[in-house]
Amino acid sequence: MTLLLGVIGSVLALLLGGFSVNLSETSALKARAQLAADAAALAAVAESGPYGEGQHERAAARFADANQARLLECLCEPGATAVQVKVAVEDVVAEARAVFDPEAVMFTGSSPDVDGLHPLLKAAVDRLIRASAGAVHVVSGLRSTAHQAELWSDAVAKYRDPEIADDWVARPGTSMHEKGLAVDLGGDLTLAARLVQELDLPLHRPLGHEPHHFELKPEP
Ligand SMILES: [Zn+2]
Repeated sequence: MTLLLGVIGSVLALLLGGFSVNLSETSALKARAQLAADAAALAAVAESGPYGEGQHERAAARFADANQARLLECLCEPGATAVQVKVAVEDVVAEARAVFDPEAVMFTGSSPDVDGLHPLLKAAVDRLIRASAGAVHVVSGLRSTAHQAELWSDAVAKYRDPEIADDWVARPGTSMHEKGLAVDLGGDLTLAARLVQELDLPLHRPLGHEPHHFELKPEP
């Protein structure tokens, strides 16, 4: 009897032992999946931030992959301030949601750059920036002629040819930025272009090779 109990006891111990190994493997997978989901969600939402490029799904996939997980789903609207992702490590699925507060990372007032802009341009840019909820920001607005001269000489030094520099930077005295008629935007430029259309803003991008450069549309 004692022997039988002993045998039962060790069978039970074996079963429990096996069970707890499985359990810890599963919880390790769960922990890995959750970590990957958290990383992917944070990376995706950061794409809506001032330094993001609006590539939510790509960022989520990259961070899931870096954590040995597969991205299954990314509920990531361009410009959204909240994202939700679902990832899998083997057959263990985890979800995470990340939110960011655009107010916390944006200027509360106008940046000095935007201040000297043509009022129509300033109004249009303000509307665009607000509608983007933090996904688009102003990189450069009004420039002094001295600043334009600096940019121009940097470009000449870089390209070693004024003709080529001309393709990238306007000569001092000729830039629309000096007149307060141009802004360079950063962040999600695809969203910026879409918002221009959706909100019917008087903006256009006259320079094909500078998708970040927006000017006031000429009067029709
Ligand atoms: Zn520009």
